[in-house]
Amino acid sequence: MPGSLQVGVIAGIPIRIHWSLPLVFLYVAWQAESAGAYGYILAGLVFSCVLLHELGHSLTARRYGLATSSITLTFIGGLAMLEGRPTPKQEFWIALAGPLVNITISAGLFLYMLVSPIEYSLDLVSSKNLVVSLFWANLVIGGFNLIPAFPLDGGRIIRAILSMAAGEDAGTRVSVGIGQAIAAVIFVTGLVLPEVSLVLIGLFVFFGASAELNRTTTLSALAGRSAREAMMTSLFTLNTGDSVGRAAEILLSSSQSQFPVRSGSETVGIIGRAEIAGGLRKSGTEAYVAEFMRREFPRVDAIEELGRCAELLSAASPVLIVESEGQLVGMIDKENLSEFLMLNDLESSRR
Ligand SMILES: [Zn+2]
Repeated sequence: MPGSLQVGVIAGIPIRIHWSLPLVFLYVAWQAESAGAYGYILAGLVFSCVLLHELGHSLTARRYGLATSSITLTFIGGLAMLEGRPTPKQEFWIALAGPLVNITISAGLFLYMLVSPIEYSLDLVSSKNLVVSLFWANLVIGGFNLIPAFPLDGGRIIRAILSMAAGEDAGTRVSVGIGQAIAAVIFVTGLVLPEVSLVLIGLFVFFGASAELNRTTTLSALAGRSAREAMMTSLFTLNTGDSVGRAAEILLSSSQSQFPVRSGSETVGIIGRAEIAGGLRKSGTEAYVAEFMRREFPRVDAIEELGRCAELLSAASPVLIVESEGQLVGMIDKENLSEFLMLNDLESSRR
């Protein structure tokens, strides 16, 4: 997620913090001047529980051989970015694992309060106690995420169940419909009460559901198709020994904005518009492209599934290098994927 910073690695998964999270801590500080350190400790513990929730998803996914590229904590919660596409049965367990973590923590805290010699009051306002607050926080996080609406875990659970019964396309469409209906109810309730946070949650869920529908429609249109079918094949490439000035010339004279950089027959980097501009500014036209190219970039085999290719594209890696037996055969970017989808649509509507 853009605007986030890696703060550590747990179980091999990079943990990132979005800029919106420190805002919550400032808010807590501002709200709870009298509460002092208590507010910070509670906020820290609650976000640790959110992190455990996301690890629940990631570690369950790992059991099915699906990796997590990162976990990002934002002010509304966490986001585990899974690589690859789980089957409905796998999605059911992966989605359920997150809320189960929180419900287990709540149950544990409840048992602790039962056996503890201290008398605990479950009244949140009067008790101002970490155990009681964490009990409620985990119940709310687990319960909220079980609401059957995308992009919440409950939406994924419903989708998985419907997909097992009626196929993935129908499962997604029906569960997105359910999610949007629930979002509308939350939104209207927020307006009537009036309660701003409900209005915002309603909007968040509504747009999250639409985004999920788009994503799955795209993925299912791309399923079973290979990188070779969609890639661009007429490409300008550069060599490590080419100058930044030469790269700028090709940038101007073509519509291409990202160029594979080769050393012999091997692709060793990519240089794009931003790096070319940066190189010109820093060292002028004579410097070598090798000095400014990105050395980390995604590459796929020509037989790789297009759905997987779409997931590898991001703001940080706007193009994919496509290879066959180690040789560069093409390149894929977002625009050329959407052209492929458009042509694919036209073709299937004529059938
Ligand atoms: Zn979750």
